[in-house]
Amino acid sequence: MATKAAVSVAASVTAASSSSSKFVINTPHRFLCLKRLSSFSSFSASALAIKCTSISNCSPNKSARSMEGFTTRTKASAQPLENADELIASVETFIFDCDGVIWKGDKLIDGVPETLDMLRSKGKRLVFVTNNSTKSRKQYGKKFETLGLNVNEEEIFASSFAAAAYLKSINFPKDKKVYVIGEDGILKELELAGFQYLGGPEDGGKKIELKPGFLMEHDKDVGAVVVGFDRYFNYYKVQYGTLCIRENPGCLFIATNRDAVTHLTDAQEWAGGGSMVGAICGSTQREPLVVGKPSTFMMDYLANKFGILKSQICMVGDRLDTDILFGQNGGCKTLLVLSGVTNLSMLQSPSNSIQPDFYTNKISDFLSIKTATV
Ligand SMILES: [Mg+2]
Repeated sequence: MATKAAVSVAASVTAASSSSSKFVINTPHRFLCLKRLSSFSSFSASALAIKCTSISNCSPNKSARSMEGFTTRTKASAQPLENADELIASVETFIFDCDGVIWKGDKLIDGVPETLDMLRSKGKRLVFVTNNSTKSRKQYGKKFETLGLNVNEEEIFASSFAAAAYLKSINFPKDKKVYVIGEDGILKELELAGFQYLGGPEDGGKKIELKPGFLMEHDKDVGAVVVGFDRYFNYYKVQYGTLCIRENPGCLFIATNRDAVTHLTDAQEWAGGGSMVGAICGSTQREPLVVGKPSTFMMDYLANKFGILKSQICMVGDRLDTDILFGQNGGCKTLLVLSGVTNLSMLQSPSNSIQPDFYTNKISDFLSIKTATV
């Protein structure tokens, strides 16, 4: 039965991907595990999840890494966007990454409000997706508002929300707890979803005194450890999360994202959420279930929630290895904007294997329609 379900999911993934004729998914068993897992209604499914998120148990390819490790074979180089009108007409929903697409730090990118207004006036659905887990949807809503953008919090999908949505999708028991290595956004989303949690910023000041015979106690009711970007990461959190995952039977290991670097300031790149996740991988010898980009959990969630075909979605982002891969893994059209971390020479470098359908300077190029040039 499970094999049949897996084949069916594989077929749907392949169909979605082939509809765009841009790449072929090397269907990972881990993805199938998540799909299967999401259809399970009891927490007993978590045991399966754990097996499936372990590379050795779940993937025939031992070099593959967790859910985001999809491999793509690109067929053609990205084309400059020359007919924005045609692209707009061909899709129903635009999914926008935020940093580097909508804003840079706390500064709005030129022409964004007018572009979003134009797309709404054409009846397009707009969705905003970010791997940043430090804020909740509500907190992001405030940021959009501060920047003068009219965006409803229901249109915002941060990886903090994805972690809570994932736990809901597997009916994570309300009597179990979630240990959080991460910031306030994850706590707020877990609270909204009605889950019990511990850890988070509160554990940021905790220290461990390694006296002879010292043993750290941990809560045996923790059934999931969620790891996201955490500016207050410390050894206490590593040890606590490790004990939960290693010693609590069936405990899930969930990552909001595995981004290598992030842009905390515009002066340099800073170690991203992947560094916190990597520490827990190291101590537990386990691979996480990733709910943020480029894993397809959020894409599947959005498609189900709004009832949209993935081929009717265009993913717009500034990062190749998260945004564009996310769109491609989901079987969507993809547009790279050069207003963020990727420049033209990076896109066209022989070492880059991720090619979006189109690229352009910034999303306000949509306004110049047929005259958009790069
Ligand atoms: Mg970005």
